[in-house]
Amino acid sequence: MNSHLLDKIVAEKDSFVPRPPTPATRIQSLRHFRLIMDENDTAWITFDMAGSAANVWNETTLREFDLCLDALSRQGSVKALILSSAKDKIFVAGADLKAVRSAPVRRVETLIERGQAVFNRLAALPCPKIALIHGACLGGGLEVTLACNARIASDSSHTRLGLPETQLGLIPAWGGSTRLPRLLGLPAALDLIVSGRQLKPRQALWRGLVDKVVPREHLEAAARHMVAHGLPDRVQPLSHTFWKLPGIRQALAHHVRGQVMAKTRGLYQAPLRAIEVAVNASVLPMNKALEQERHAILDLALTPQTEHLIDVFFRKEEASKKPHPRGVSLTIHDVAVIGAGVMGSGIAHWIASKGNHVLMQDVSTQSLGSGLNRVNQLLKEGVKRRAITQKDLRDSLDRITPEHEPVPLTRYPLIIEAATEDMVLKKKIFANLAERAGPDAILATNTSALSVTELARSLPHPERVIGLHFFNPVHRMPLVEIIVTEDTSDDVIATAVTFVQRLGKTPVVVKDSPGFVVNRILMPYLMEAVRLHESGISADIIDEAMLEFGMPMGPMRLLDEIGLDVAAHVASTLCVAYPDRMAPSDLLNLMVAEGKLGKKSGEGFYKHGQSKLPRKRDKIKDHTQVEQVQHRLALLISNEAARCADEGLTRDPADIDLAMILGTGYPPSRGGPLSWIHEYGADNASVELRLLASSTPPPHSFEPARFHEV
Ligand code: NAD
Repeated sequence: MNSHLLDKIVAEKDSFVPRPPTPATRIQSLRHFRLIMDENDTAWITFDMAGSAANVWNETTLREFDLCLDALSRQGSVKALILSSAKDKIFVAGADLKAVRSAPVRRVETLIERGQAVFNRLAALPCPKIALIHGACLGGGLEVTLACNARIASDSSHTRLGLPETQLGLIPAWGGSTRLPRLLGLPAALDLIVSGRQLKPRQALWRGLVDKVVPREHLEAAARHMVAHGLPDRVQPLSHTFWKLPGIRQALAHHVRGQVMAKTRGLYQAPLRAIEVAVNASVLPMNKALEQERHAILDLALTPQTEHLIDVFFRKEEASKKPHPRGVSLTIHDVAVIGAGVMGSGIAHWIASKGNHVLMQDVSTQSLGSGLNRVNQLLKEGVKRRAITQKDLRDSLDRITPEHEPVPLTRYPLIIEAATEDMVLKKKIFANLAERAGPDAILATNTSALSVTELARSLPHPERVIGLHFFNPVHRMPLVEIIVTEDTSDDVIATAVTFVQRLGKTPVVVKDSPGFVVNRILMPYLMEAVRLHESGISADIIDEAMLEFGMPMGPMRLLDEIGLDVAAHVASTLCVAYPDRMAPSDLLNLMVAEGKLGKKSGEGFYKHGQSKLPRKRDKIKDHTQVEQVQHRLALLISNEAARCADEGLTRDPADIDLAMILGTGYPPSRGGPLSWIHEYGADNASVELRLLASSTPPPHSFEPARFHEV
């Protein structure tokens, strides 16, 4: 680009910005932006936050951006403005949430007002404004681009666009709730705002959120072309007007609200408030609509629910990015996966889709074939959702080598075993792997509940053995428990942590012990639910209670999904490990013996037929029963979580909360079972005793759900 820095322009073009002590002086001292004019009088503003890998909006960056706009508004000859980022993976990640979390109300209010004012000012500049989006463009990042006239996105896998505020208990309040409905129409905007979904570039193009998708290196050229040939025509579809009709708008609001209520049981305030704001904003004048945004976000920002959601966000970010504090990590690109069943194929698919080479090995050619089919199916679904292209599909498949023979594995620094859950078999497989693998290879197991220590100690080099516990379905579940034994070396742990992070998953390092963290807590909860059912409470009511608590699925339905045989098997391992408080369930064992295995056999606690008709549910006649079930089960979860914390299974007890949120869908609005019990315990010291007295003691009860002091 043949360009001049603004300070040079100041020197050469007196008319552009007045000399010191005018704003020009200040612009020369900008730390986070570059403002450049090219030979065609196009202004290029590049966001490059000093000392940070990310760009975020806070008081300082908003003020500096405003100074850039100041300079441009004084310059009459600006033909166009191009906004971009200098960061490798981030356009703008959004607002600086740390500032929001710790700020008093007045500061939050000022920040919201300033953001709205600055983005309004950008929108009001009389020249075409084009955003060049490469990398994460989220929250306030997307909102600044909505104040532009056009958006061009790079086709990079780092580029994602979305308004995730409702996931954090907030709403888009820098004009996002107002401008998005005007751009996309109300239904599409509500979908993005309420779901917090992040779109890949082609999905964004398809929805009309961006005007063009090009390779990163063509972004500048695409912008110049757009400046030279004019902005793309955006004909407002007739449906925009249709959705503005009062009756239609209210019907849509009612419909979306119903969907949110069905999913969240009203537990989350932010999406409901966002619907109200966006629906009204679509017909209000801009200033009134923005005022509504401000009121809504201030009501939400300082609630305990939002605090929990933001805390969980930070904990997840830290776990997903921070390297392990000890040991040296290697970068791994070649992985062998042993076993091509449900988990092996899921793991192979995910690793290959992240650009790594995978050898997928199974003793059964039939399993290998079905495993490859599953991978293919998952990739095709990705193409259908426009998350990947046909070429990505082919490339991922090309990176997977299916293998039936026990070939040498010396080129694989990491081998993940995902074969049938059986200690004798796994020991045999590991002994064989130790012979076929290179001398430094990491040998990992995906076991759900077997002892990683026992497995490791059956080998000459236990320090190279680790557990990598992926959850099912691998492509959806964000958590990987990293199971470490007393022998596992720091370098192996550090490498495993970095590898999982590179896969885009969140690792939680857990000391080896029966059930690790997630199954250790989940299983007694599921077994207690079975006992409540045995004592006469219907599966519907038990599930309803936990849905109301905020779990994504009730325990009885979850058991049917997992398979009652699998659940009974994992539970039996835990019963052996904790005989003082866990006992097998007679009902569960009986159902398994009768072939009632859950969804896969057509019957478990529910019947799973072909019928499309809605099932008749048990009506709740007495809500106190729902509350009792809820407290009994929720306290049991917290009880076991407290024990895990006591035993120091994770370095930080907060990791237990994070593992439960990411591994089981425990409601993040409650902060996790340990956070919840601390708040609940403070408010309800006597409640659990009342509950215990009123519930029928089951024949072989787990230890009653009493809060165990951490
Ligand atoms: P699966 O039955 O679907 O697959 C097991 C595969 O291992 C089969 O294809 C089988 O042919 C293969 N196998 C058996 N012996 C082998 C050998 N010697 N060498 C190579 N392959 C061999 O089981 P899955 O559900 O994929 O579970 C695999 C592992 O993952 C288990 O340890 C299980 O506990 C664990 N896990 C399962 C889940 C789940 O929900 N399914 C979740 C987390 C962890």
